[in-house]
Amino acid sequence: MTRFISEQAAALVPYVPGEQPKDRKYIKLNTNENPYPPSEKVIAAVREEASSLRLYPDPQADAVRDAAAAYFNEVFGLTGREAMDRDFFFAGNGSDEVLSLLCPAFFTGKKIVFADITYSFYPSFLSLFEVPYETIPLAEDFSVRTEDYLNLEDSVGGIILCNPNAPTGRGLPLAEIVRILEGNRDRLVVVDEAYVDFGSESAAGLVGRYDNLLVVQTLSKSRQLAGMRVGLAIGCPELIRVLHTVKDTFNSYPVDRLAIAAAKAAFEDRAYFEETRQRIMSTREETARSLQEMGFDVIPSCSNFLFVKPAAVPAKDVFLQLREKGVLVRYFDKPRINDRLRITIGTPEEMDALLRAVREILQ
Ligand code: PMP
Repeated sequence: MTRFISEQAAALVPYVPGEQPKDRKYIKLNTNENPYPPSEKVIAAVREEASSLRLYPDPQADAVRDAAAAYFNEVFGLTGREAMDRDFFFAGNGSDEVLSLLCPAFFTGKKIVFADITYSFYPSFLSLFEVPYETIPLAEDFSVRTEDYLNLEDSVGGIILCNPNAPTGRGLPLAEIVRILEGNRDRLVVVDEAYVDFGSESAAGLVGRYDNLLVVQTLSKSRQLAGMRVGLAIGCPELIRVLHTVKDTFNSYPVDRLAIAAAKAAFEDRAYFEETRQRIMSTREETARSLQEMGFDVIPSCSNFLFVKPAAVPAKDVFLQLREKGVLVRYFDKPRINDRLRITIGTPEEMDALLRAVREILQ
């Protein structure tokens, strides 16, 4: 280790993303990417924007914020005084960046709570910013017990909920989120909705009513843009303004020109978004049924992945043997979940290959 390392950096435990292997071609069901390519309209928009790369991008990515506002107003039926404009939106370089910016914006000096089984990036970015945190155990079936979030001690300044949760795939009904918002009016409640378009209820329509709610979404999953890096925060304009101030002290241009063009076109191509997310949800249900027939315990999923427990062979062995056979899934060697696998939903052909490989392993 270099003698120049800071004490803080020496103590960091970085988030380990799912493998992006280069040694051979795998069926990649390990990082919850979308199996379908971006829409033709997105590809055309990116091509057209390429000739402008000499110029810096719009620092606030207004085209993305406007397209997002139009999309959410339509989805939630918000019109007139209720309609959201760009001031309700912040765009960043992937939702991981948006989450990280929450620390200097809102979290430093406060304690944050989140579930014991959830997205493992949360402890990483909170540690980087030296924000203390505590975890709240999920119930035995991995559901959130709302009551656990209603009488928090005074030292808790914020809550992060992942809905649907990762890696479990379980969704928390909107009514439960409202109870948590109502019970925590003086705490910021962040709802990470990375997978919400695959079957969970979004809280984004509530930001006009709750000034303690910040919803984080990404274009990496349901909009096929993991490689572009675009994430959003949705909240009341007072919250969003703070995120812009923090961004402008760190990196004024987090969303590049190609990403702005792609994200705008992705929000505008509603037909492709609907078609692909419906396809993924129906492939998920078929895959879940097949795995159940093979004896797997399958948690009902509102996301583009399944969190499953094999019956006869240990999860780690299934993971390793699938890898040998050219199929990558995710295994977490952690308490409570080391008997399970997280399987991203791919195309029907990819899922057939997965099921064939699983059958061979179980024989
Ligand atoms: N939240 C959750 C729950 C995720 O699983 C991911 C993807 N790993 C992210 C946020 C971050 O996604 P991105 O940075 O690609 O927007």
